[in-house]
Amino acid sequence: MANSKVILVVLDGLGYGAATQELGYLEGMVQAGKASKWKVKTSLPSNSRPLYETIHTGLPPIEHGVLTNDIVRLSHCEHLFSICRAHDRTTAAAAYSWMSELYNHVPYDPVEDREQDDESRNIQHGRFYQKDDYPDFELFADAELLIRRHHPDFMLIHPMGCDYKGHVYGGSSDQYHKQASRADQILSTYMPAWLEKGYEVLVTADHGMDEKGWHGGTLEVVQHVPLYHVSSSPIQNDQDVVDQCAIAPTVLKLMGLPIPDQMKVAALNA
Ligand SMILES: [Zn+2]
Repeated sequence: MANSKVILVVLDGLGYGAATQELGYLEGMVQAGKASKWKVKTSLPSNSRPLYETIHTGLPPIEHGVLTNDIVRLSHCEHLFSICRAHDRTTAAAAYSWMSELYNHVPYDPVEDREQDDESRNIQHGRFYQKDDYPDFELFADAELLIRRHHPDFMLIHPMGCDYKGHVYGGSSDQYHKQASRADQILSTYMPAWLEKGYEVLVTADHGMDEKGWHGGTLEVVQHVPLYHVSSSPIQNDQDVVDQCAIAPTVLKLMGLPIPDQMKVAALNA
């Protein structure tokens, strides 16, 4: 498993309950023993930009300092992209523009930064979007092109559909649940080829959604998100609830890369 390539899928705004209810393909993979699943407790505040940084640095917001969505700056910490680059691993992302701002270039230039192919950057191959209603279907196609063209060692795929539908209609709405189901269907169309190429695939979320269409605090629907590991040999689940800070070291462990001292929470099943 060491020295594997990893695809990290962050389904923005998808809580654990909705995922369990709607992600029929991934749940079927778990039932068949081809994937494992954890309940992840997010760091706080349960907002997007702070938790993007948590997922990539293994640090809670009170330590990495991106405490609100309005703190617009590059990451000050070691993160998955910089660690990959320090060890000559290829990186790519199809993601929201805030990921470009955290890891490549700030402030985001909607023309120049949308398509990035620059070997010197943390995210060497990036396709970014700014509109929250950018369709998940298009985003996954953006990602798949980067995978086929560049064979990245670490690939971030970050669609916004669940968060968008959750904010507009609420976390218990039909629209939110159908969006989760659509994401699962799209994943099922790409996953077999990713596994064929030897990728380890992690699917998680930054935070969930409450029924009023909000997140940021401590409600379970907001703080509990799923983590799936789809692999020829999935990591065994020996914990009921895992800390979101475990995701970054788990990616590094799968890739056979050193885990920096800043990451205090151990990788899953380390
Ligand atoms: Zn949101």
